Amino acid sequence: MSMRHTRRQFLGGATSLLLAASGASRAFGQERKGTRLILLRTKGGPRVGGGRNNPSTLLLINDVPYVVDCGAGTSRQLGAAGVPLSRLRYLFFTHLHSDHMLEYGPLVYNGWVAGLRTRVDAYGPPPLKSATQAFWEYLRFDVDTRIEDEGRTDPRPLRVANELDAPGTVMQNDDVKVTSAAVVHPPLKYAFAFRFDTKDRSIVISGDTNYAPALVGLAKGADVLVHEILYPPGVDKLLARVPNAATLRKHLVDSHSVPEDVGRVAAQAHVKTLVLSHFVPGDDPDITDHMWTDGVRKHFQGEIIIGKDLMEI
Ligand SMILES: [Zn+2]
Ligand SMILES: [Zn+2]
Repeated sequence: MSMRHTRRQFLGGATSLLLAASGASRAFGQERKGTRLILLRTKGGPRVGGGRNNPSTLLLINDVPYVVDCGAGTSRQLGAAGVPLSRLRYLFFTHLHSDHMLEYGPLVYNGWVAGLRTRVDAYGPPPLKSATQAFWEYLRFDVDTRIEDEGRTDPRPLRVANELDAPGTVMQNDDVKVTSAAVVHPPLKYAFAFRFDTKDRSIVISGDTNYAPALVGLAKGADVLVHEILYPPGVDKLLARVPNAATLRKHLVDSHSVPEDVGRVAAQAHVKTLVLSHFVPGDDPDITDHMWTDGVRKHFQGEIIIGKDLMEI
């Protein structure tokens, strides 16, 4: 059976039985070849709770996990996707808003106590290095105590923060080449989209961005574009409840993509499949699938997938 037939399955819970029946689910580490894309979590913004969870996206390339962004709860969701935390290797941060990195430190810490003794490389914009150091300082008492008391190895020299201050090649190994483009997410100076080119697929993750010509260039001809999306009427409803509504609305609309812009990017880049994720608002059950896609469809005629937590594509 080709990989294509196993796409868009859900992982975990009752659906894992479905996967097992289809042959798609195997124990981790069985040298599964090829590239899998799993939306761990699909809600935009820092608030926790609601129907979706803060964003994180997983690529499994020949069974090695590449985690893009680490919203709150990413450690648990990796477990739900069948990835042992002791296998962490590569982390990528599109930018350093908290919904994309709140669980960065906890994730690498959780890997350590799960037995991870090998190197983890994290790639992201400044100040990733100082944020990494600050996290280990925050947990210094615990880590020092466990090294002394439990005989554990020191994790800190093996957690490497690689700062990206310009677009281009991020990293490359035998399995994948990762490249980036600068996207438009004011007021942030640094915000990136990432493209993963493997032997069998090309996958682009937009990060948070308004319409960005550089993203069109990065995504040219990609098999899959995972793109963030903001639905303005849903934002207006959300903001009716908050005191700083006008300021927050301006930030959201300036720094994210409305459905029409998502469709324009996908069409101009000629991607095969567009996957919507990082939904803003991400927890309004009154927003139907059509509300998300109607504006996109005005420009993009290819396949559109409305992402959900733990969906495999
Ligand atoms: Zn975000
Ligand atoms: Zn952001």
